[in-house]
Amino acid sequence: MSDKAHQTGNNGLLARSLAAVWHPCSQMKHYEKFPLLPIARGSGVWLHDYDNKRYLDAVSSWWVNLFGHCNPRISAALRDQLETLEHVMLAGFTHEPVVQLSERLRELAPKGLGHCFYASDGASATEIALKMSAHYWRNSGKPDKVQFLSLENSYHGETLGALSVTDVALFRTAYGALIRQQATVPSPDWCKAAAGESAEAYALRCADALEQHLQQHHAQLAAFIIEPLVQGAAGMAMYHPIYLRRARQLCDEYDVHLIADEIAVGMGRTGTMFACEQAPTLSRPTFFQGGKGITPDFLCLSKGITGGYLPLSVVMTRDEIYQAFYGDEIKSGFLHSHSYTGNPLACRAALATLDIFTKDNVLVKNRSKAAYLNEIAIPLHEHRAVRNWRNTGMIWAFEVQSPHADFAQRCFALALEHELLLRPIGNTIYFMPPYIISESEMDLLVSRTLRIVNQLS
Ligand SMILES: *Cc1c(COP(=O)(O)O)cnc(C)c1O
Repeated sequence: MSDKAHQTGNNGLLARSLAAVWHPCSQMKHYEKFPLLPIARGSGVWLHDYDNKRYLDAVSSWWVNLFGHCNPRISAALRDQLETLEHVMLAGFTHEPVVQLSERLRELAPKGLGHCFYASDGASATEIALKMSAHYWRNSGKPDKVQFLSLENSYHGETLGALSVTDVALFRTAYGALIRQQATVPSPDWCKAAAGESAEAYALRCADALEQHLQQHHAQLAAFIIEPLVQGAAGMAMYHPIYLRRARQLCDEYDVHLIADEIAVGMGRTGTMFACEQAPTLSRPTFFQGGKGITPDFLCLSKGITGGYLPLSVVMTRDEIYQAFYGDEIKSGFLHSHSYTGNPLACRAALATLDIFTKDNVLVKNRSKAAYLNEIAIPLHEHRAVRNWRNTGMIWAFEVQSPHADFAQRCFALALEHELLLRPIGNTIYFMPPYIISESEMDLLVSRTLRIVNQLS
């Protein structure tokens, strides 16, 4: 701990932060009742404050951290990169980390996504995918295809273009006049299935609604954008992977791009490196297309890609799309840019993150971790106030029936008293821990969450 940190302590930093920092996704006045928490340092799954209290980061610091705070291997790679090249503009220049990262992502991603376009955050990746899709159609002689379609309760970021395909009223309402209205189709979220209807049957029913929409509007539609398998910001809504297969088929049939926003679910979060890999072959023989997994036209990655170290996002796309921009005229090129596009430090952190996946056999180990958590969580699962217990890979979520209208804030505050960082979305508690979480840390997470649910229900 630095001397300065010692002098200021928790309260000093809190007051200074409120005076100078406008915090994201916040009504600043609420911090009067539920104070900010100054964090001094991080180590593994733990965050430590200035009073020597610790908090298990069960939400991976907004879903970005994969291998713990201050991971020694990622830190070492970054130290080396800091002594080599911190940044160079990517227009007209290139460097080893960005080339290596693009080659390795091409190897890992669904087959055919050979071209990587970089930005710094998730929302920018969404913007890029939307712009690239519409520009592709323009370059291909179909300039009317300028609309986008998304799922109900979708979240794709909060810049104006991304917000136009984000269906979370809270984030949109104030900016309605600034946003181009785009259509939505029903979410295959299995919690919305009719009584007695299976998750698969419901997903297929939603795919029928998608088909109807595409039938009517495909001539104006550039792309359909989805969060594969789990709609994160909607409250970890999970759906049957058959929907991905049907969405791929229908987009092919109606000549509409499929954008897979794997900003939250990519990088192993759903149990496979990318959620799109889990799309099954259809059981209905008439739709049989063979093979497991789908290749979207655009794959957006961010959040976990640097292990939670640095802002980086990437949009991967197919050769045919890339070729539609290739030519002699500058205006047919994709002229989008960000100052930090392909930043070497961020790319190096991503490479170190990918190394850990391979060297530690992370996806296989996560499977037994997930099985362990599911087993110890049975009392939580069966709790009288818990509804819709669900799990996909390293994401768990459930709703809590509680008499408290301000459940999310109360739960957050109570969790801190129990050494947990939980950040419920409405009445939905979710776990999205770093992959390095140990069995004893999972025991602590589950047993204390059970206590919290008891207190709030
Ligand atoms: C977080 C998120 C984004 C936006 O990423 P930012 O880096 O916060 O701009 C977009 N899509 C999904 C699915 C996300 O979870």
